[in-house]
Amino acid sequence: MTRTVYVNGDYVPEGEASVSIFDRGFLFADGVYEVTSVLGGKLVDFDGHWARLERSLTELEMRNPVDRDEMLAIHRELVSVNGIVDGRVYLQVTRGSAGDRDFAYPSEDTEPTLVLFTQATPGILDAPIAQKGIRVISVDDLRWARRDIKTVQLLYPCMGKMAAKAAGVDDAWMVEDGAVTEGTSNNAYIVKDGAIVTRALSHDILAGITRAAVLRFANEAQMKVVERDFTIEEAKAADEAFITSASMFVQGVVEVDGEAIGDGRPGPVSQRLREIYLEESLKVAI
Ligand code: PMP
Repeated sequence: MTRTVYVNGDYVPEGEASVSIFDRGFLFADGVYEVTSVLGGKLVDFDGHWARLERSLTELEMRNPVDRDEMLAIHRELVSVNGIVDGRVYLQVTRGSAGDRDFAYPSEDTEPTLVLFTQATPGILDAPIAQKGIRVISVDDLRWARRDIKTVQLLYPCMGKMAAKAAGVDDAWMVEDGAVTEGTSNNAYIVKDGAIVTRALSHDILAGITRAAVLRFANEAQMKVVERDFTIEEAKAADEAFITSASMFVQGVVEVDGEAIGDGRPGPVSQRLREIYLEESLKVAI
């Protein structure tokens, strides 16, 4: 089945979708994005992603071309026409095209570009990796200093992912001034003596929508949560480690820089959080 995608008001077969070569997303990575998970045909935490999109746009003085209800309707239409049961909806807003290349932002009346597409991930909940856990290496965090804005300038995370691949592992944790910031596309956590430790929110990391949900559930379940920096050495000595993202939910990390964490399997805290997260998210998915 040909995938139907959305471009600036139109639903079209993916092969017919196009944007200008002068689009600022293409020329300057002048755009932001969101990825919303679909489980059982329903959107997980749509309003969390919507709120973060609005924030990213505001930080970049960019206009949102649609309102919340229209964005929800587009998501639902794409999920429906593409028959997505388990998968994702990717959305991207760019500052549009002024018909040429110019560093200065174009005038206010330039239409932003809005593109959405779906990705199917059948069987993702039962993927073997969830039981097995992922392995990571550490790399220097060489990204810009506003990682709280979810921009499409993802070249460095791509390089981190390639470094991981070259090392025969699954992902990279980025390190700045001796402390872990986050994974290439996820938030990072360790568990030590029952306490869940994750870096506090700032301009240094993305405020994960999954992070917010998981920390809320952890607090509700009376688990101890400490928001502070941690090092790779602490991760190696931790009882457990895990990541969160809309695409991976809660995923155990079992090795960092070649050293096993805990007993080398996803630990009980991350497994419990994964269960709670999936159960609670599904209840309120729309
Ligand atoms: N950090 C980074 C750098 C990311 O790219 C992502 C995924 N978009 C996350 C964290 C996790 O965010 P979320 O839980 O909203 O997917």
